[in-house]
Amino acid sequence: HELRSPLGAIQQNLFVLTRELQGVISEDQQRRLERMGVRIQDLLGLVNRWLRGFTVDMAGLQASFQPVALSVPVGKAVENAQPEAVRKAIDVSAEVEPEAVVLGDEGTLAEALLNIIGNAVKYSREGGRVRVVAGREGEKVVVSVTDTGVGIPQADLPHIFADFYRGKAGERGPGGAGIGLGITRRIVEAHGGTIAAASDPGRGSTFT
Ligand code: ADP
Repeated sequence: HELRSPLGAIQQNLFVLTRELQGVISEDQQRRLERMGVRIQDLLGLVNRWLRGFTVDMAGLQASFQPVALSVPVGKAVENAQPEAVRKAIDVSAEVEPEAVVLGDEGTLAEALLNIIGNAVKYSREGGRVRVVAGREGEKVVVSVTDTGVGIPQADLPHIFADFYRGKAGERGPGGAGIGLGITRRIVEAHGGTIAAASDPGRGSTFT
């Protein structure tokens, strides 16, 4: 609330001001105000996304757990990652055993998977490959996402699941805020799972 309400107030005032000043100020100035509006919107989106991930109500979530065939959230996450993958000519494939069923929340599982698959696409060069495999191993379901991307330096590996941490690839590469993996870890842990990353720097990464 303390983050959102001042941002909301700035947004509203800017909106009114932009309208009132139309025709009074130059087109260039008008565009500057509009750009400020867009940036504030981005910031609000970021705050909302982080808050949502940070305040995933574990107990509440678990109370509504249902059997989820992983093919469903994996399918959704792959579909959502497709536009960016197509743009970079990256082949994303998924192989999910029908036995891969967990007790969980489909929506948050899809969000966690999209964070990982989205990163795999984001941190891959053009023409790369992303492979998602899910299967049952005893009482567990194991999901792995492997990419042929830039990889993660050894020094970054212990930190990437912390909130706001951006590794070497993150700082150099495309935009981001360093919150996706922290949210993903909390979602996985709320499902009684664990998440880990391994990498061959320069050749690719696997998140399991
Ligand atoms: P963001 O991508 O916004 O920086 P994340 O929390 O999703 O934030 O990831 C944290 C960091 O982990 C990234 O900045 C990047 O350095 C590294 N990372 C995550 N996924 C990959 C990947 N598939 N390949 C290489 N680096 C990755």
